[in-house]
Amino acid sequence: MNLFSLTIQEAVKGLKEKQFSSVDLVTSCLERINQEEKKLNAFITVAEEGALKQAKNCDIQLASSGPQIFEQKPLLGIPAAIKDLYNTKGLRTTAGSKIINSYVPPYDATVVTKLKTAGVVIVGKTNQDAWGHGSSGENSDHGVTRNPYDFTRVPGGSSSGSAASLASGGCLFSTGTDTGSSVRLPAAYCNLVGIKPTYGRVSRYGIIAMASSFDTIGHLTKNVYDNAKILEITAGKDDLDATSATEKVPKYTQVLGQSIKGLSVGVPKEYFVEGMDNKVKESVLEAVKTIEKLGAKVKQISLPSSAFAMSCYYILVPSEISSNLSRFDGIRFGQERETFGDEAKRRIILGTYTLSAGYFDAYYLRAAKVRSLVKKDFDQAFKNVDVIIVPSSPSLPFKIGEKSDDPVQMYLSDIFLCPINIAGIPSLNVPCGFAGGLPVGMQIVGPQFSEELLFKVGYAYEQVTDWNKRTPKI
Ligand code: GLN
Repeated sequence: MNLFSLTIQEAVKGLKEKQFSSVDLVTSCLERINQEEKKLNAFITVAEEGALKQAKNCDIQLASSGPQIFEQKPLLGIPAAIKDLYNTKGLRTTAGSKIINSYVPPYDATVVTKLKTAGVVIVGKTNQDAWGHGSSGENSDHGVTRNPYDFTRVPGGSSSGSAASLASGGCLFSTGTDTGSSVRLPAAYCNLVGIKPTYGRVSRYGIIAMASSFDTIGHLTKNVYDNAKILEITAGKDDLDATSATEKVPKYTQVLGQSIKGLSVGVPKEYFVEGMDNKVKESVLEAVKTIEKLGAKVKQISLPSSAFAMSCYYILVPSEISSNLSRFDGIRFGQERETFGDEAKRRIILGTYTLSAGYFDAYYLRAAKVRSLVKKDFDQAFKNVDVIIVPSSPSLPFKIGEKSDDPVQMYLSDIFLCPINIAGIPSLNVPCGFAGGLPVGMQIVGPQFSEELLFKVGYAYEQVTDWNKRTPKI
């Protein structure tokens, strides 16, 4: 058995029963990274030495305290890959950009602190579209990441390396950020489970900001159980992030296995449109049928403002980006502004324009109003249904280079994803099919703070299907 192919749940069991050590587990992932990295380019920094040291330390703790140590440290010895947007103390953090190419943070992001406290071993920092700007992994200043299911295709972005490394066995889970799509799209394109939690559910402290009123912190895993487990650890109020929510964090794993009989599921007509890939449509509708067979009631619904979501997103997000990136002025941090890549420059220019006097009312303010309409659609829908099911992407993972010269086409890959960030609600990507050897993902979307319900539905679906068990042949 290859240790890198285990789920977190299986690995914890094996560690408790002394079938293998954390050093064995971490070594297995590091070997896999060494084998695959040239093809995938999933990492910006591999922390081989540090990871092995941490793993040894975990083994010592386990040997001296016995398996009950997992009650305090539920992820002891588990190898994880961290998106390069997360500050990691003493470990280079570049945000995928050459601007801060040699930055070594003096502190950890809150999520990193929480994961380390839970016993996680960090194997490295993953490649990403610079600053989180992108849907394909092609906007990284550190080169393109490839999809492990087909090296000629994109893995989805911007958490491209996090998805590619997990799907190929470089870690047992990975972290991402989702401002408009960036956990769910790579999860969908690499056959993984990915959560975009409610805005504010997880602290953003120490994570390099993209668009602050949209940014959410999420995780990628091989199955729903592992995802629920990680969110249990990372969610919660953080005094260092004023936007983090005070809502109690449920024990997400405890509801897994409960029946979904009587659940009402909405299927919005605006998300099954002409021009989308038929195979994607069929897979998602088939998944809805499966959920219906589990006892759910399916209803057609409408989210009429969806048509305006992309325009709204591409005004508000660049506006916030132009403000957030202004601190990289070549004086306080890193390189001169000329070093920004094309996409960052495009967004800085666009955002500066939409915020400037004379244009603010016409663009920013109107887009902010449209934001309320998009949110209202969802609020209205959730009066009638418990969850909404939609595809994660209108297409299968596309070819590298196919959309990189056409920003609008690239932006449209997020058409089913960014409305959820506009509304600030949670969504879980779950693998739901394959077409021509490429994965298809669907989203289970719910009202604010309904992560528990999303995991319950995703888990119920996963128990009667096995899409998430398929792995790439590499
Ligand atoms: N693809 C979207 C963008 O480029 C979303 C990115 C993200 O979620 N970080 O804005």
